Amino acid sequence: MQKKIKEIIKIINENDNFLIVGHVGADGDSIGSVTALTRLLRIKNKKARAYLNRDTLAPFSFLEVNEEEFHTDSKELKEEISAEDYILITLDSGNLERVDLDQELIKDAQFIINIDHHEDNSRFGKVNLVQADRAAVAEIIYNFAAEMINSKLPFEIAEPLATGIITDTGALRYENTTSRVLRILAELMDAGVDIYKINKKIFGSISYKALILKGLALATLARSEDGKIAWLYVSREMMHQAETDYTEGLVSMARDIEDVEIGILFTEEEKKEIKVSLRSNFYAEVNKLAAEFNGGGHPRAAGATVEKTLQQTINSVVEAAKKYV
Ligand code: 5GP
Ligand code: MN
Ligand code: MN
Repeated sequence: MQKKIKEIIKIINENDNFLIVGHVGADGDSIGSVTALTRLLRIKNKKARAYLNRDTLAPFSFLEVNEEEFHTDSKELKEEISAEDYILITLDSGNLERVDLDQELIKDAQFIINIDHHEDNSRFGKVNLVQADRAAVAEIIYNFAAEMINSKLPFEIAEPLATGIITDTGALRYENTTSRVLRILAELMDAGVDIYKINKKIFGSISYKALILKGLALATLARSEDGKIAWLYVSREMMHQAETDYTEGLVSMARDIEDVEIGILFTEEEKKEIKVSLRSNFYAEVNKLAAEFNGGGHPRAAGATVEKTLQQTINSVVEAAKKYV
């Protein structure tokens, strides 16, 4: 795999224009990796642009990703870049549908470099670096930074990388927390990163409105007869009532119940568009369950979008989940 990293570094060295993007509904790994890689390429004097979806940025404002540094307006980016030749680098995106970028800008790229850690990645790039044993894409980008920067890692790169790792390991609680991850985090702390601050921002605080929504969601909690599957839902009506659509962290409440193996959150995006978030504790491969509904992800964290009503989706996903416990 080291060979693939070298191959990509060679492409970076021999080209000048890059567009870096993450996945729809971006999380801390997506935003952190895009931020770190873009800053890394700029340090290397490359023309590097990034697109970050404005809707997902609020919880990560501490990274100081702003609209001067990155594009948050898809139309504006299109106007600016459409006449240029650029290499597209996609991060943390298991397939092309997950990539958060205007279709035309995907199509018009010279080629795609696909860097990811999802086992079920469809290898849609010309170059594909897929390392499923890495806790986060940020861990992979750290390896690029370590190869490409000979001196100490700059803080502006270290902080987003730590954010990606902390997000995807659930603040070092998930089973993807390897000794390698802890060593990298130690390095990032030596570069000035405040791990406590990041943990507090991502996992240790919640907005008032989001807590109201959490309460409404908790009231919907249900479980299978054997107690191994637990689920809750968030309807449009509940989001309206709480005045927020922030559902981060809700699915873990279902997963963390004693004796539960699979926790599920159903979010009603539209009347017939239900986002399903799946989490497991020890053995259920929820990426396979997600794949039954055209989704995907990791063995312990996966998702899909189902075009049925809320109740129909709950019925069919819970029924299908029973095979896995
Ligand atoms: P979340 O439940 O936090 O949205 O997603 C959990 C995991 O499942 C993430 O690793 C994410 O990449 C993956 N995931 C979520 N939704 C989808 C989807 O619709 N398709 C695919 N392929 N993966 C998804
Ligand atoms: Mn992600
Ligand atoms: Mn990730």
